[in-house]
Amino acid sequence: MKRVYLDNAATTRLIPEVLNEMMPYMTEVYGNPSSPHYFGQQSQMAVDRARQQVADAINAEANEIIFMSGGSEADNTAIRGVAERYAKKGRHIITTAVEHHAVLHTCQMLEKNGYEVTYLPVDEYGMVTVDQVREAIRPDTILVSIMFANNEVGTIMPIPEIGELCHEKGVLFHTDAVQAVGHLPIDVKAMHIDMLSMSAHKFHGPKGTGALYVRKGIVLPPLIYGGAQERNRRAGTENVPGIVGMGKAIELACTDLDEKNRRMMRLRDKLIEELPKRIPEIKLNGHPTKRLPNNVNFSIKYIEGESILLMLDLNGIAASSGSACTSGSLDPSHVLLAMGLTHEIAHGSVRMTLCDETSEDDIDYVLEVLPKVAERLRKMSPLYHG
Ligand SMILES: *Cc1c(COP(=O)(O)O)cnc(C)c1O
Repeated sequence: MKRVYLDNAATTRLIPEVLNEMMPYMTEVYGNPSSPHYFGQQSQMAVDRARQQVADAINAEANEIIFMSGGSEADNTAIRGVAERYAKKGRHIITTAVEHHAVLHTCQMLEKNGYEVTYLPVDEYGMVTVDQVREAIRPDTILVSIMFANNEVGTIMPIPEIGELCHEKGVLFHTDAVQAVGHLPIDVKAMHIDMLSMSAHKFHGPKGTGALYVRKGIVLPPLIYGGAQERNRRAGTENVPGIVGMGKAIELACTDLDEKNRRMMRLRDKLIEELPKRIPEIKLNGHPTKRLPNNVNFSIKYIEGESILLMLDLNGIAASSGSACTSGSLDPSHVLLAMGLTHEIAHGSVRMTLCDETSEDDIDYVLEVLPKVAERLRKMSPLYHG
């Protein structure tokens, strides 16, 4: 059976070239980077090389990169770190209603511990404005945390403008850039970013490895205690193969980025233009132009996202939906609800996320299968009278 993977926002394939770089660091170069002998120093050198590769990808300095277990840990480290370190200055944090749960749940935990959090609402496209942030900043605001690009609907936030505002106001600015690193050009200096979260498995690197960029001069307490690794900023023996893989993956992802994105956007736009011609009463979610090159998100009226996914899967297509049934709850996506969609419409959403390995054939296959799936499900739907 033909299989088409369109769930690259959930995770990506580890590319063989990256795996090849990682392999020696499991069986041959296996020293602990903290050990002063030859074995250890070889590992240490590999970690340093990867740190430079990651820094170069976002125009940072190598010593501003802290390796850790992934995007969730990076978000936790940034937000909890600022909250703890700057508690005397203030206890107010600004974020958005559409963040990843790694940010939202961390903020909710802080609310239970005496912090105040402003969750900025978004417009129908999932966007916040600089003016909203400006109006929300108070004398006791210690952190603004706003995602670079949304993982569900692909909307790209006005990050450079928000960064500039935060610097003007003297407030720290963190961005969860897990969906953006390796996908969009990023320059932490030009964009006035103080802290930035990233995760290797979202750009064809290994799972369980990520990094937090922390601008020079900002000192955060660590989340994990126990050793002097990462210059006392994150304890624990380094995941050397993972870190090496992350370095290689980010370098590859940023090579010919514009060209890869142009190709992906053409395929993305083919789905965006063709699906509404073949399926009546469907609605594109997310911003029409300020969106990730690989993101397509549609609500298909009268049917359930979960049923669509099941039927797509039976036809070999892997996608994702806005409702979190898989996690045991029937609540529709908080992102779609924040954008003003009704529960009913939000439930009928499908997300398809491409990568640079997605082919025209894959897209044509989706254009053939999805309309049939939608029609079949609508025939069974008590809500549909088309
Ligand atoms: C995937 C993702 C995360 C979590 O990253 P992990 O490495 O899986 O912990 C955080 N934020 C966003 C926007 C994501 O897409």
